[in-house]
Amino acid sequence: MDLGKLIQDRIRDVADYPKAGVVFKDITPLLADHVAFAGVVDAIVNHHGRGTIDKIVGIEARGFILAAPVAYHFGAGFVPVRKKGKLPSRTHEETYDLEYGTETIELHVDAFAPGDRVLIVDDVLATGGTARAAADLVRRGGGDVVGLSVLIELSFLRGRGRLGNLDVHSLVTV
Ligand code: 5GP
Repeated sequence: MDLGKLIQDRIRDVADYPKAGVVFKDITPLLADHVAFAGVVDAIVNHHGRGTIDKIVGIEARGFILAAPVAYHFGAGFVPVRKKGKLPSRTHEETYDLEYGTETIELHVDAFAPGDRVLIVDDVLATGGTARAAADLVRRGGGDVVGLSVLIELSFLRGRGRLGNLDVHSLVTV
């Protein structure tokens, strides 16, 4: 089975969402296909190798869907990075520009033990603003960011270039 082709086939382009001029990559058909979903999770786990990561960070909201099963397969903990106002305890926060608008994301201040090795997982890398803010949050929280895994990299938006020397792993590049 060609996982790359299956993934491509299960990603739906939605024009003018969430606003005019944006072509949104809708991953819900992929998530609904158990072969494609499992293949994506396995590919992320296999890329990084077992036992070398303490925590998987998932970015709200679609990042949670991918990060939780990756954490389970790794035997790692799951840590949510959420939009402002959603986490109940004390947080660090970062505000950044998005492809469409601005966003503030948060992380619990006690999410990591000092030196925890952390993999960040999200569905899409677009301009890189979200990933960079998440990486900054993890570092402020005492974690050691070992990489970023995304399902889809929109390479024309050059997000990778905003992430310094972070190890960026994408399953599909558009
Ligand atoms: P960035 O900060 O890299 O510009 O945008 C990435 C964030 O926005 C990710 O958290 C991702 O969920 C969301 N995002 C941006 N564009 C798309 C898209 O076309 N499809 C999906 N599924 N998410 C997107």
